[in-house]
Amino acid sequence: MIKTDILIIGAGPVGLFAVFEAGLLKLRCHLIDSLPQAGGQCSEIYPKKPIYDIPGYPSILAGELVDNLMEQAAPFKPGFTLGEAAVDIQKNEAGNFIVTTNKGTQHEAPIVMIAGGLGVFEPRKPPIENIEDYEDKGVEYIIKDPEFYRGKRCVIAGGGDSALDWSIFLATKNIASEVALVHRRSSFRGHLDSVQQVMDLADSGKIKLITEAEVVGISGNGKVEAVTIRHERDGDFEYATDHFIPLFGLKPSLGPIANWGLEIEKNAIKVDTLDYATNIPGIYAIGDVNTYEGKLKLILCGFHEGTIALQSAFARIHPDKKNVLKYTTVNGVQGF
Ligand SMILES: Cc1cc2nc3c(=O)[nH]c(=O)nc-3n(C[C@H](O)[C@H](O)[C@H](O)COP(=O)(O)OP(=O)(O)OC[C@H]3O[C@@H](n4cnc5c(N)ncnc54)[C@H](O)[C@@H]3O)c2cc1C
Repeated sequence: MIKTDILIIGAGPVGLFAVFEAGLLKLRCHLIDSLPQAGGQCSEIYPKKPIYDIPGYPSILAGELVDNLMEQAAPFKPGFTLGEAAVDIQKNEAGNFIVTTNKGTQHEAPIVMIAGGLGVFEPRKPPIENIEDYEDKGVEYIIKDPEFYRGKRCVIAGGGDSALDWSIFLATKNIASEVALVHRRSSFRGHLDSVQQVMDLADSGKIKLITEAEVVGISGNGKVEAVTIRHERDGDFEYATDHFIPLFGLKPSLGPIANWGLEIEKNAIKVDTLDYATNIPGIYAIGDVNTYEGKLKLILCGFHEGTIALQSAFARIHPDKKNVLKYTTVNGVQGF
């Protein structure tokens, strides 16, 4: 049984910053995340994209922001249960929450802070029968590090910004040796600028554009060696490639948390904006996972919500102690 003061479900940017704010209140944290690494959407979806609206940083890569948040939380020595999803919550006789993961790890804490973002998110997969046999063997649903594709032949599928942007990136930075973009329609859903760029790159031969077509099969001996493309007019043909990257977006789902007795609205947890508490005393929800009138799904809003929620959590844990707000500039982090 892992015991802590604040059990944070979700190690995205908001959960990570909550560790720092909890540390200033001398509250210890443990984080659970279903992903194998911390950072939430920033690490999983867009680590190499710059963010421009983090106060004090005119521009910072999402991955760098996560590294900084980890460094900022480090003095308070948070614990991590990574690669496991929180699936069950109960209360014990002492009034503490017991949260169990899908792998059976148990955690006990008087306060649960849900920072679950979009929930457990899964990629939308194309309906190809044997696709799962090739996952991580040439099939990827998210591009984490473009360098992984250096010198490789890539088939990207999709018609939105992700498919367009990554096709442009891999083709123009001379990373992939060959880029093919396959899309069911002849028009794209992405930004007009990106669509134009893809058309220009197709004209100059840097991207092979295959529209009104879809990937319907994958073949290869233990790894992707070719895909079968079904073209509306020309029928089926084989296309040699090292990677097949369907970028059809992610399917967010609150998952098991939706059955914990929390008030849910539009796939998010309703909170009181006084302290971001849920309808269950002792459980708070911060960041993208919560909803209230005027909610903005922005990282900086999540930082604020966590800070306020922790003041309230402190009062619940120590009803007899008065908390006086101290500046880090006066005490330094070690002084807390
Ligand atoms: C492409 C893109 C660009 C963006 N650009 C910006 C931007 O410029 N500025 C900005 O402010 N915001 C931006 N955002 C939004 C921003 O990423 C989110 O607001 C932010 O990630 C929310 O942080 P979070 O910690 O609340 O949730 P998340 O980052 O979603 O992290 C939640 C974590 O909880 C985990 N989790 C969920 N349920 C469970 C469970 N049951 N058990 C265990 N773990 C669980 C998930 O695996 C995930 O790691 C962007 C988003 C995207 C997709």
